[in-house]
Amino acid sequence: MTSTTLFYIIIGIIILKFIFDKILNHLNAQHFNDDLPEEINDVYDAEEYKKSQTYKSTNYRFGLLTSTFSLVVTLLFFVFDGFEYVDNLARSYNSNPIIIALVFFGIIMIGSDFISTPFAYYKTFVIEEKFGFNKTTGKTFIFDKIKGWLMMAILGGGILALIIWFYQLTGKYFWLYAWALVAVFSIFLNMFYAKLIVPLFNKQTPLEDCSLRDKISEYAKSVGFNLDKIFVIDGSKRSTKANAYFSGFGSEKRVTLYDTLINDLEEDEIVSVLAHEVGHYKKKHIVFNLISSILLTGLTLFILSIFISKPILSEALGVSIPSFHIGLIAFGLLYSPISEITGLIMNYFSRKFEYQADNYAKYTYKSEPLISGLKKLSKNSLSNLTPHKAFVFMHYSHPTLLERIMSLRN
Ligand SMILES: [Zn+2]
Repeated sequence: MTSTTLFYIIIGIIILKFIFDKILNHLNAQHFNDDLPEEINDVYDAEEYKKSQTYKSTNYRFGLLTSTFSLVVTLLFFVFDGFEYVDNLARSYNSNPIIIALVFFGIIMIGSDFISTPFAYYKTFVIEEKFGFNKTTGKTFIFDKIKGWLMMAILGGGILALIIWFYQLTGKYFWLYAWALVAVFSIFLNMFYAKLIVPLFNKQTPLEDCSLRDKISEYAKSVGFNLDKIFVIDGSKRSTKANAYFSGFGSEKRVTLYDTLINDLEEDEIVSVLAHEVGHYKKKHIVFNLISSILLTGLTLFILSIFISKPILSEALGVSIPSFHIGLIAFGLLYSPISEITGLIMNYFSRKFEYQADNYAKYTYKSEPLISGLKKLSKNSLSNLTPHKAFVFMHYSHPTLLERIMSLRN
């Protein structure tokens, strides 16, 4: 195979993915105005349903605009040998392959962030604002950006530097060391996410003694679950949308509730949402997800190790000096259809797990408060209640509200 053929394969993958996504989004949009099935027709009143329809179509049109823009920029970058240009720029600073790679990715990241930030700004301060979701201030928006960059530079840059170093030392066996590094890092991050990362962006306070806390403790005791770490996070700093999640394991396990969730839901409903989260833990979904993502990483790194030394990868992107970092980009693009498929499989399992966690809440607590809680969450985020089946199959990590209610009532 010549590098020109490989170039066209990569362009083909990018364009096909775009077309496929557009078709799926279009199918989904055909159902924005469907009548709501009986089981969920009390989620919105007539006026709110209208509002949710406008929200869906606004986001749909905005998504169409941003993805088309991003496709055009990407293709132009390819056609005008953007990678070669940035690579030369990075090489003009230093001759150390690790430094070159860091500078290279730094330029690419900052460049793409520079292009995408106006869209993110518009999404937050125009669209979310218009529908009453936005609570983010300009200051929070800017600080979030800066903190995001720093984290990316330290964590992403550190891991990349180590992986290239492994490659220099061990050649094609680098993938084993890289795998061990990524595995240890993901377990560490999973364990200490709430302690190390969350405080950078949010304030979290232990849930104070109150009737809610008593109800939660009573429930936790009834299922023999040791839950002394319940935290409330100031999600309302950014958005009115509500959430709850579980993180860590062993002695580090904790439940985090958004303050917006506590405001919007009744105590019974919050306990049932929590029972659902406990279900994920008890059914070992958290461990399953962690292990399967580590195994997938291993597989990807192994396949990467077979191709990374081939100069054709760099040549396909129009870069004359072959290198690990250019090979990595070409590989990432060629691998994207496969990661699309593994993502699909992970979503499939995730939806299965949601049913299991719902059932856990149903059998160890109650199903009706979970149903009414889920309805409120959908209503308050103006969720799409009538997504297309194919769209759900591809993108949804959770079953639809209707499917969950049917299963809970079954
Ligand atoms: Zn869940």
